[in-house]
Amino acid sequence: MTKFNVASINQCTEVEGPNKRLCIWFQGCNIHCRECCNPDYQPLVPKNILSLDELVSIITEAKGEFGIEGVTYSGGEPTLQQGLPQLTEAIRNLGLGVISFTGKRYEEVKDILSGCDAVLDGAYEADNKETRRRILGSANQRIICITDRYKDCIEDWFSQNENKSVEVNIGSAIVANGDKI
Ligand code: SF4
Repeated sequence: MTKFNVASINQCTEVEGPNKRLCIWFQGCNIHCRECCNPDYQPLVPKNILSLDELVSIITEAKGEFGIEGVTYSGGEPTLQQGLPQLTEAIRNLGLGVISFTGKRYEEVKDILSGCDAVLDGAYEADNKETRRRILGSANQRIICITDRYKDCIEDWFSQNENKSVEVNIGSAIVANGDKI
């Protein structure tokens, strides 16, 4: 059965891409960028092991309850999750868009990212910090539109640097996400 190693989920965020989105932070990354922004999500250890059906159910609930328009994959390194294409297909079948971060070059991981609408790629370069675009860490990282879904809005959204924001969600745990400010 397809399983996913999930560090955390925010069912409705407005700081991880255009529109309201559910964001999944996958556990585990083997890229080891210096000054990684999410070091707790680097270790390749099991965290919350969820099945495809469990993840789809959480996403379906967020669509109904919060009216999310899409899902963002973050981490950790999303492309380490072998079931990612099946998850992406299931999300698209719900009528939702998918945006994925990856610390690899898109060309290296395009198969596992198949079905995504947009990809934010490239390892974090601590000596090449991003100063213009929101939520991207370094200037080498690319915004790649695979489909037309976000073509007309994604560059605008990322260039709204004056709208840098952090959300703090208080539930069973406190999770902060968004731009570093
Ligand atoms: S790719 Fe992302 S999660 Fe992985 S080490 Fe680099 S900044 Fe951290």
